[in-house]
Amino acid sequence: MIIVIKKDSPEKQVNNLISWIESQGLRVHISEGEYNSVLGLIGDTNKLDADLISGLDIVEAIKKVSDPFKKANRKFHPEDMVIDVGGVKIGGGNFAIMAGPCSVESDKQIIEIAKSVKKSGATLLRGGAFKPRTSPYDFQGLKAEGIDLLLKAKKETGMPIVTEIMNANHLPMFEEVDMIQVGARNMQNFELLKELGKIDKPILLKRGLANTMKELLMSAEYIMAGGNEKIILCERGIRTFETYTRNTLDLSAIPTLKEYTHLPIVIDPSHATGVSKLVKPMSLAATAAGADGLIIEVHNDPQHALCDGAQSLTPEQFDDVACSVQKIRKALKD
Ligand code: PEP
Ligand code: MN
Repeated sequence: MIIVIKKDSPEKQVNNLISWIESQGLRVHISEGEYNSVLGLIGDTNKLDADLISGLDIVEAIKKVSDPFKKANRKFHPEDMVIDVGGVKIGGGNFAIMAGPCSVESDKQIIEIAKSVKKSGATLLRGGAFKPRTSPYDFQGLKAEGIDLLLKAKKETGMPIVTEIMNANHLPMFEEVDMIQVGARNMQNFELLKELGKIDKPILLKRGLANTMKELLMSAEYIMAGGNEKIILCERGIRTFETYTRNTLDLSAIPTLKEYTHLPIVIDPSHATGVSKLVKPMSLAATAAGADGLIIEVHNDPQHALCDGAQSLTPEQFDDVACSVQKIRKALKD
């Protein structure tokens, strides 16, 4: 249930209402908007007397929320969420481009790529240190050393970093990481999600290979229920019967998710297609469709990349994509 509070209602009365609701065993999520405050009630609201509440002077309206996700629900938080990732804002009109290699391979590799993507307009550096590979014999990432190298690249370029976590026991290693990625394969690792709910750090939550948008929102809810509301959703392609592309990019997820949630949504055209030449058209389409950002794989030597070379852009190709994306952004504003 949500309760819309009338503008300029006395704080004391609002607080009394909140305390009364809490005394009924419910939790209250407060969202202060420009025009109204919204109280989102979490728990079994069946026993509440809705007529009694709607009769109060300070109450403008009450609405039942039947969706199973509450904190991630736009009804609880009508305005777009803006998330600050190490000083870079994402959401609510703030567009971010994250770029970097699939995996961190060496000092030279990550620093060279970081410098070049920054020059082209990327605002965050991506790079995998722990890699979830389909084969156990493939390169699994540099692990702790990979995180150290990302931090070094951050120091040299000033770019905040985003990197994937695969195990909650690794959290101490992520202390200085600006945003933690939950990869597609872990979207429903609920124990991991619960642990991420306890920390105060932005989470990039990728949609699973075969998960619905509702399931993605329920995974966001897992993290938010623990107290961490800084979630950025990422559509990275879903598995279909198509074989010419690695996955199928579900662009409709952008406007659809935006209807249901206030959380920012970014698109990963690299994993969505698996083909470097498709990254540009999909980046432009995603930008035009209202994405809050992009996450793109860039490698200084894609042919010799230890992971995902076929979908990685060269720094020159990335520069062209970033420049065209800015043109689309400008056209959308005009
Ligand atoms: C990645 O970002 O490198 C990655 C493994 O992504 P996904 O979880 O979307 O496959
Ligand atoms: Mn990759």
